[in-house]
Amino acid sequence: MAVPPPADRADRLAALLAEERLDALVVTDLHDVRWLTGFTGSNGAAVVGADGTRRFLTDFRYLEQVRTQVPDPWERIDGGRDLGGAGVAANLPREAVRVGFDDADVTVAAHRRLRDAVRDGVELVPAPGLVRRLRQVKEPAERDAIRAACELASTAFVTVILEGPVVGRTERQVALDLVHEMQRLGASDASFPPIIAAGAHGALPHAEPRDVEIPVGALLTVDWGCVLDGYCSDCTRTVATGPLDADARRVYDVVLDAQLQALAAVRSGADVRAVDAVARDVIGDAGHREHFGHGLGHGVGLEVHEGPTLSPRGSGALRAGEIVTVEPGIYVPGRHGVRIEDLAAVTDDGPDVFTGTVTKELVEL
Ligand code: ZN
Ligand code: ZN
Repeated sequence: MAVPPPADRADRLAALLAEERLDALVVTDLHDVRWLTGFTGSNGAAVVGADGTRRFLTDFRYLEQVRTQVPDPWERIDGGRDLGGAGVAANLPREAVRVGFDDADVTVAAHRRLRDAVRDGVELVPAPGLVRRLRQVKEPAERDAIRAACELASTAFVTVILEGPVVGRTERQVALDLVHEMQRLGASDASFPPIIAAGAHGALPHAEPRDVEIPVGALLTVDWGCVLDGYCSDCTRTVATGPLDADARRVYDVVLDAQLQALAAVRSGADVRAVDAVARDVIGDAGHREHFGHGLGHGVGLEVHEGPTLSPRGSGALRAGEIVTVEPGIYVPGRHGVRIEDLAAVTDDGPDVFTGTVTKELVEL
């Protein structure tokens, strides 16, 4: 069973509310709710007040579960049929005037129900991403959970891909095996549907596995991850299913060089655009700039895509405790694709790589 989250998470959120001049925040995103309260079910919301209010709302199905799962100081409340509307409105701090809500999560319909239910004088203020901002820097226990998810997924990769067989089976069969193996090892699920993409199909960064047999002598991109204790892993390796032509081999070497150099640039204080540029310049100097169309990486935690964003459109500097991917790629339309992705914690001394047990040297299956 998951360990209850430390109560200081809600206190840190309350401090953020003061900065934002909010009296209370309505938290509805289930990942945010889980991070704050420990609740793992499918229907829950939280109200956090600058005055110390800590209310957790769910429906009758979960009241027994949350008795142990959602610890004090949270009040555990049956929020009724309209949790995010009437339920939340009835449980705001008595004196609250400025009440924030996450407009990136609350639908227009839910917002209307909430607005209709709050007492006169309450001002609903869009306040997106406040909990997310706190979630971005991981606590040691969270880092351990993500590291464990990475190790489980790496073990499954060795069994299903490296030990195989892979050639002659379809991309879809291999994807299903990978998910099944991760679940067999204890993962609750894949963190996203795995990408298994051979040959020219690998030139699509988000390729869906096909009912097509994997051929000999191709590049095969495998991007996969699992969820363990609520936390995600994310990793990509590209392998060869037999001897490659010189061009494919060269593309692999360029991506690996870009990945190693960018990974080495990960440390607290590094500008996210500068880290992205390290990989982009290596790939550009090799004549493939237009073949690297996505950002270098993203944060990972309870969700497989979180902040920060390492890309030309990102902003700010990396902070110790953030967990980020470094995943440059080259995608040559009609020919092949290579992506190599590691997951690493940002430290003051550089990257603490969680996916290092799976080799990045080109493996020929
Ligand atoms: Zn990935
Ligand atoms: Zn990724």
